[in-house]
Amino acid sequence: MSSEERTQALALLGGPKAVTTDSRDLFRWPSVTAEDEQAVLEVLRAGSMSGSNVTRQLEAEFAVYQGTEYALAFCNGTAALLAAMYGCGVRRGDEIIAPSLTYWASALPAFGLGATVVFADIEPDSLCIAPGDIEHRITPRTKAIVVVHQCGHPADMDAIMAIARRHGVKVIEDVSHAHGGLYKTRLVGSIGDAAAMSLMSGKALPAGEAGMLCTDSREIFEPALALGHYERTEAELTLPDLKPYAGLPLGGYKHRINQTCSAMARVQLRHYPRRMQEIQEAMNYFWDGLEGVPGLRAHRPPKESGSTMGGWYTPLGHYLPEELGGLPVDRFIEAVNAEGGDSWRAANFPLHLHPVFNTADIYGDGRPTRIAFSHRDVRQGPGSLPVSEALGERSLGVPWFKRCRREQIDQFVAAYRKVAIRADELKAE
Ligand SMILES: *Cc1c(COP(=O)(O)O)cnc(C)c1O
Repeated sequence: MSSEERTQALALLGGPKAVTTDSRDLFRWPSVTAEDEQAVLEVLRAGSMSGSNVTRQLEAEFAVYQGTEYALAFCNGTAALLAAMYGCGVRRGDEIIAPSLTYWASALPAFGLGATVVFADIEPDSLCIAPGDIEHRITPRTKAIVVVHQCGHPADMDAIMAIARRHGVKVIEDVSHAHGGLYKTRLVGSIGDAAAMSLMSGKALPAGEAGMLCTDSREIFEPALALGHYERTEAELTLPDLKPYAGLPLGGYKHRINQTCSAMARVQLRHYPRRMQEIQEAMNYFWDGLEGVPGLRAHRPPKESGSTMGGWYTPLGHYLPEELGGLPVDRFIEAVNAEGGDSWRAANFPLHLHPVFNTADIYGDGRPTRIAFSHRDVRQGPGSLPVSEALGERSLGVPWFKRCRREQIDQFVAAYRKVAIRADELKAE
């Protein structure tokens, strides 16, 4: 503890704030420049919002970036996930395995295919789906495992791929939180059978509203295309079981991306490696500054692992109340925010406890959609996924720095340090 830290009271208890400079610029996102504006203007002036020439260029560049044979653009990430599930053979009565603490689009599109979701718990460190909780959930109906690289942290792909291969199940990587991240030096999104991701405005790689599906497999690419890209099916379908249906989208979806977004995505992709590098530097600097502080641990892979966090979308920290005399996380967050420190209650609400996954009869089957076509009741009640359910009390949202200005980040580090070091004052009061 520095002498300043010893003497300065918590802002929540009337002391001075730790963050004193206007830091809005550190967080401003997306980064839109004249180059994005020019690219979008060209599409508008050409009147080609619904065309495909710019989208084709984006797809070619994205495939190179991701290192996959195919990249297929979508109107959003949700549609890309639906198509990835369809491409991986998910059909009526089938099951997918997914984590519960994720954005709903990692799992819910399965309902639209007549399939259901079995949730697996997460690992306490990575917060990604736990390989050890997958295998016993696999049945003959299981077609795919959806892996989310949660808040940028790469999932344990080697273990997950080994399980999937053993059982003939496909793996879909949801890369929406982790664009450009590495798993043991390999780019996430190029390891599973297919990757789907969001490029919406808030994501690390932002393009307005857009999604992308990447795969090396023609057997996945073609059904994914056939589902919602009707205008491309005549020219692109080659598989004999799909070709006869060219001209109309299977299932009646329309997944085409608006080319203003394709144009922005091309510009953003060009600048992404540099921007991601700056996010990496800023976030690692923040966490290095908190090394050894009680109650807090970074959510990032070990340095020597060859794995990295990519774009760090909505970064979290681990919160260990037992090191802070049991101080509840909400109180810690309140105190950090009083310092000007930008914290928030993390962790999405666990999907498995939401009524949509338990009671909603969406399609009028006379039974909850979750079990409308399944041969067993796969619903999972409170207590079924203990790590996922406890995470709300054991994590907190931390500032998502987009710019690496060390003196400013130092003030945020000071805010977190101050609250952690003086936590007993919050308990005593
Ligand atoms: C944002 C997000 C999506 C959905 O993408 P949209 O482009 O918003 O449809 C899917 N999965 C995860 C994990 C996300 O964070």
